[in-house]
Amino acid sequence: MLTLSKIQEARENISSFIKKTPVLSYGDPLSQNGENTIFLKAEHLQLTRSFKIRGATNKIRKEAAIGARHVVTASSGNHGQAVACNAFHLGIKATIVTPTDVVLPKLQAIKNYNADVVMHGTTSDERLSYAGSLLQDKGTVFIPPYDDYDIMAGQGTIGLEILEQVDELDAVYVPIGGGGLISGVATAIKESNPNVKVIGVEPQLANDTFLSLQAGERVNIGSEAAGTIADGLRTNTPGEKTFPILQKYVDEIRLVSEEQICQAFTWALTQMNQLIEPSSAVAVAAALSHPKQGERVLAVVSGGNVDPKILRELF
Ligand SMILES: *Cc1c(COP(=O)(O)O)cnc(C)c1O
Repeated sequence: MLTLSKIQEARENISSFIKKTPVLSYGDPLSQNGENTIFLKAEHLQLTRSFKIRGATNKIRKEAAIGARHVVTASSGNHGQAVACNAFHLGIKATIVTPTDVVLPKLQAIKNYNADVVMHGTTSDERLSYAGSLLQDKGTVFIPPYDDYDIMAGQGTIGLEILEQVDELDAVYVPIGGGGLISGVATAIKESNPNVKVIGVEPQLANDTFLSLQAGERVNIGSEAAGTIADGLRTNTPGEKTFPILQKYVDEIRLVSEEQICQAFTWALTQMNQLIEPSSAVAVAAALSHPKQGERVLAVVSGGNVDPKILRELF
């Protein structure tokens, strides 16, 4: 199970290895015009430029303490970087299984941490089964991207920081991929202050969590999810462990269009001077269209790794 106290333990476990990221605010605090005040929790300024380092650090430090000497994962994105970074600092081996068409900047970021990269297949099923075949050796552990309580607890430390950094919040917007980030953040917030609304956000093209919550069971939307520019949110079904937590704590889900994602990206760049990745622009887009006025709303800016090739498309 995931509880507030697990998240507090995670914070003790990771706080000296990650950054406590700032909260940026938009809107003139002196103006009385009744508009919303928008806050951004700046995980794009985190080590490895995404929140994934929090969960990975919690999990890998715990595993290393009980004998892990080799960590394996199958993500070429932000989670892969976070795993590679941790292994590098702990002096243990990391193997990252990537698709054969992995983009160069991501490959480079992983290699900068001296991780072994194995390119295998193009689908996540192929990568996962290959990663599974590496786990025969004692001391080798798989580090899941979201469906794991230690990973979720690490991500939940963001929720603890938010509550300390911003008073009287009305709503927190969180992007959803597999649901690890929102499971942690929602547990931290709802078990501390249930008055704060926790709103999950998905691209319309990757609305698996929205459909699953409606149906009351996990729905798989297949390859449709690959169509969104938000590459961190292309999962096609919620996690087995994350889904019940979402059912318990998430107040609602908002869906945003590809156009809204691009507009929010441009807003962050031109109004806040922040380069954020499309998966984070999803949460910003929803926060910018918060239905009520005069409220204090926060978007979790989950990361800032933007593929240079798509910058033009976004802007
Ligand atoms: C992984 C990721 C997400 C989604 O997190 P989940 O735990 O899979 O829901 C959102 N934004 C960014 C930048 C990510 O890397």
